[in-house]
Amino acid sequence: MESQFIAWLRQRLHGHRRLLLGPGDDAAVLRLAGGSDCVITTDLLTDGVDFLLDRTDPRRIGRKALAVNLSDLAAMAARPVAAVVSLALPHEGALELAQNLFEGLLPLAERFDVAIAGGDTNTWCGPLAISITAIGETTARGPLTRTGARAGDRLLVTGDFGGSIRGKHLDFEPRVAAALLLHEQFDIHAGIDCSDGLSLDLARLCAESACGAVIDLDCVPVAKAAFEIAEEESAGVASEAPQPTVAENALRHALGDGEDFELILAAPSRQAAELISRQPLAPVRLTDIGEFVADRGLWQRRAGSVLPLKPRGWEH
Ligand SMILES: [Mg+2]
Repeated sequence: MESQFIAWLRQRLHGHRRLLLGPGDDAAVLRLAGGSDCVITTDLLTDGVDFLLDRTDPRRIGRKALAVNLSDLAAMAARPVAAVVSLALPHEGALELAQNLFEGLLPLAERFDVAIAGGDTNTWCGPLAISITAIGETTARGPLTRTGARAGDRLLVTGDFGGSIRGKHLDFEPRVAAALLLHEQFDIHAGIDCSDGLSLDLARLCAESACGAVIDLDCVPVAKAAFEIAEEESAGVASEAPQPTVAENALRHALGDGEDFELILAAPSRQAAELISRQPLAPVRLTDIGEFVADRGLWQRRAGSVLPLKPRGWEH
């Protein structure tokens, strides 16, 4: 539903003289008086969809609600500035819950120098919903967008993928510092953060850049948690039919689980080679997992054979 709605909205809206970049990227960019550019993004997290309140420390939920916004600012290579926090709280225990959500998000706000500028708080008979809007500023290089990938660019990612449900989906580190460093010191053509699935978010970046991408399956950095889940899944199968190997299953998790909140980047080939050899984000690893191509769509490559890859991920 969400992607259809955004497509409709982009047709329906007529732009605005201040809006340099509207719906369709990780954040919007607004031109302010004086010529500075403001980057703005918002996320709505709901109990039962984005977290389970009865099984999760509310401090981790509060932290996540801010961190997902910081991840979107990172995808734009914007420096975080401020955030406003809106809560719809279930009636019972509302005050304590609100306090705990903030106890979780405030340390992250301090670490990223984000001013908590206000918000709104309601109680109701529904589940907890927390919406944070974050504001950032562009650096001298301007925003990093989804539109700049070109055929021949290498496909780079930070960190590893899959199995985020084991904890990373709550406790991930927004790649703000990584994005700012890369955008300032290197030539990065395009970027997106992986919120919904490596293959799905890559497909979104490709769509905005009007190109396609080939993923070298053997190069995808698969998280340990993805292997653990894959092992448990294969142990639980009592079937005579041939089953995918644990490694295949773990790769499937890496390509489609989502909530990794890593960066997916396009960089010109020579620049990418330098980044891979220098590893400027260490200990965060940069990995080259494929290339952008002129033909639209996604492909998977292994041992010389190239097959179409269906984008998979979390559809809200
Ligand atoms: Mg995003």
